[in-house]
Amino acid sequence: MPDINLAQKYLEQTKSLFGNELFVQDEKVDMIMEDGSIGPKSLSDYHLQISDCLKCGLGEKRDKFVFGVGDPNANLLLIGEAPGAQEDLEGEPFVGRAGKLLDKILKAINRSRDKDVYICNVLKCRPPNNRDPLPSEVEQCESYLHMQINLIQPKLIVALGRVAGKTLLGLDVQLKDMRHETHEYKGIPLRVTYHPAALLRNSNFKAAAWDDFKWIREFLDKN
Ligand code: SF4
Repeated sequence: MPDINLAQKYLEQTKSLFGNELFVQDEKVDMIMEDGSIGPKSLSDYHLQISDCLKCGLGEKRDKFVFGVGDPNANLLLIGEAPGAQEDLEGEPFVGRAGKLLDKILKAINRSRDKDVYICNVLKCRPPNNRDPLPSEVEQCESYLHMQINLIQPKLIVALGRVAGKTLLGLDVQLKDMRHETHEYKGIPLRVTYHPAALLRNSNFKAAAWDDFKWIREFLDKN
């Protein structure tokens, strides 16, 4: 129940300070961090705040820091494992042929990078020769992903590829053993599907991937 007396007091104080004009603050409630400091107000603030990171060895070798791209209020958050060579050059996740294929898939579920979708990786810097992320790198970097999730508040997370799936879920299993199941990451439903690069390498996976994305569309339409 709202406190009417408190509201009346606030209005009286406001009137005595500003006359009959009412100022309404429409900013998000501040996020208080573990150390008591105030957290970032937006994804763009957060990007600026962490883009010089050198917490693990990948920071010194990167060309560009790859924060993420898309709609800051997206219901769908897509997460890959780490930037590749092209992403490192451009500073954007999922570019090149795999990125174009991902854009086509998103279009088929009535979405795009700018509309209801946010795309990022677990690691923000490229591992050499596109090797899998090391557990120590994930440990250093994962808190950035947690903050991105806090700021976006997606309804569904989709891990793209086996490495992203096993990194987020802490499971060392095959992709087929993670698909078809709704997992959870930080309290948010999570599904695992094929990485678009895998679909380019083996078109036999495309029908199964399309089944996954139809499920994703239905889930988002219902929730
Ligand atoms: S991979 Fe993550 S933890 Fe390592 S330097 Fe880049 S941003 Fe920092």
